[in-house]
Amino acid sequence: MDCKETQHCIHLFLRDELDGSTAQKFVEHVHSCNECMEELTIEYLLSEGMSRLENADDIDVQKELEEMLDRTIIRVRRKKQLKAGLFLLASMILSIILLGGT
Ligand SMILES: [Zn+2]
Repeated sequence: MDCKETQHCIHLFLRDELDGSTAQKFVEHVHSCNECMEELTIEYLLSEGMSRLENADDIDVQKELEEMLDRTIIRVRRKKQLKAGLFLLASMILSIILLGGT
């Protein structure tokens, strides 16, 4: 994913509307690209921060954003593990059926 694509995806990411593999590429890119991380931070501030400014709480944007990025990666990984687990289960059942048939 290049910078243009990544920045195009920022709004979708903040609304949690990216699909798994796109979200993973997105997170990988912002972690390795300061420019896009900066852009994401600004957009995050605009979408999240402004609505909370009236509460006057200290907003640790960098930390919140990191947590959001981590959550995305964890969710994508879990989905992959689930798929791998199902595949393993299916092949086990299949071999039981095949062995049982002989
Ligand atoms: Zn970039």
